[in-house]
Amino acid sequence: MSVESIITKIEQNKEIYVEFLRTLIQSDSVNPPGNEKNVALIIEEFLKDIGIKTEIFPFGNNRANLIAYLNKNFKGKNLLYNGHMDVVPPGSETDWKYPPFSALVKRKKIIYGRGSSDMKSGLAAMVIALKVLKELKFDLPGNLILNAVADEETGGKFGTGWCVDNPLKSIKCDFAVIGESTGLNPLPKAILVGEKGHLIIKITTHGISGHSSMPAMSKNAIYMMTEIIESLDKIDEYILKSDPPIKLKKLKNLLASTFPSEDIFNRILNEQPEIESLFQSLVSYSKALTMIKGGIKVNVIPDTCEALLDVRLLPGQQVDPIIEALKKLIRDVVGYLVKDDTNNPPGEIFVEVEIVTASEGSYWENWEESNELNDFFELVETIYEKKPFYLLLPASADAHYLRNDGYCPQTILFGPGKARTAHAIDENIEILDFIRAIKVYAIFAYKFLSKK
Ligand SMILES: [Zn+2]
Repeated sequence: MSVESIITKIEQNKEIYVEFLRTLIQSDSVNPPGNEKNVALIIEEFLKDIGIKTEIFPFGNNRANLIAYLNKNFKGKNLLYNGHMDVVPPGSETDWKYPPFSALVKRKKIIYGRGSSDMKSGLAAMVIALKVLKELKFDLPGNLILNAVADEETGGKFGTGWCVDNPLKSIKCDFAVIGESTGLNPLPKAILVGEKGHLIIKITTHGISGHSSMPAMSKNAIYMMTEIIESLDKIDEYILKSDPPIKLKKLKNLLASTFPSEDIFNRILNEQPEIESLFQSLVSYSKALTMIKGGIKVNVIPDTCEALLDVRLLPGQQVDPIIEALKKLIRDVVGYLVKDDTNNPPGEIFVEVEIVTASEGSYWENWEESNELNDFFELVETIYEKKPFYLLLPASADAHYLRNDGYCPQTILFGPGKARTAHAIDENIEILDFIRAIKVYAIFAYKFLSKK
């Protein structure tokens, strides 16, 4: 049986796979600056000896994206596996139990290191799945496409965004998996069918500087910002209410179905208030003022003050109405002039509203009707010996590049690792979780590509 041969192959080579993952973690690809090309070269080397051809697309300073194919045939169904090669900075290395790029293995069970969870384990598992299918020489009508990308941690424009517009453009995508960690311990594994959007807005107040001994003669830009901050919650009145893609009750039911009874589920909800916060974040947009800068000297009235507003959009919610609502609030409620898109400031005292970065959310509308997704779900249940559940991502990943604009709406996120350790000190991955993910990716690809 083919599935058994896949499992046997993976079991026999566990040590090699763990070493491959460790090499990926040890290759420092902190973004910025990135250095993802080093990771791409390790992947190329790993796949080379079995005759898998990889294409590396370099850009910038030692950065790159990579694409590899299981075979040369594009006549059947195409399955896309996508994983990012960059990682976030480790922070203060002395705060780590073990050096963040040592990929130290503890008790033969856990690997520590930056990127172990987010997401070099997911990426490694996808690369290995491709290798396993090639080694077993299956004659499959479909094709598996591996896409290792740069730049995810800083927005993905040069990574997945670029790949979709360039080498992937002519390749039809029938189903895509992004291998981000979707473990939510103590909850079961999640399969994510949507993600929120992310909008960062810079607000700048422009006042009039002067000597602080005569404050009445100037206009303090920090005070202006305070007025805006105090009114910020009123913005909700100017934003058209956006419906969440999955209603709260249904989200809860999706998770509840993994518990033996509703009583047990309700008890867990009570004991773990963060689960309720997670659900709340998935059914509404959110905003948080997270940075502020103003003033140059203690005896000078500041003439400018800058603040950054971090907005998380619901899938389907657009950027422009939020910007317009903020401008309207500043104009009508706070009472300041707002600079329009021309270069001319509207007066001496005014406020500027600018988009720093914007990515809209994404959602696979028809996920409930997909037999392939159902197969994936059942496979995860079998391999992980626990029923997974469908959920949305409260943050944003690269899925919007694949889902939006119609390239591949049928994109999911699923991968080894615990979302909570991602970006954190002492990030780690359980080897068992990693091995299980390899099995899920390899078996799913085998089954998906076998169908005509
Ligand atoms: Zn990630």
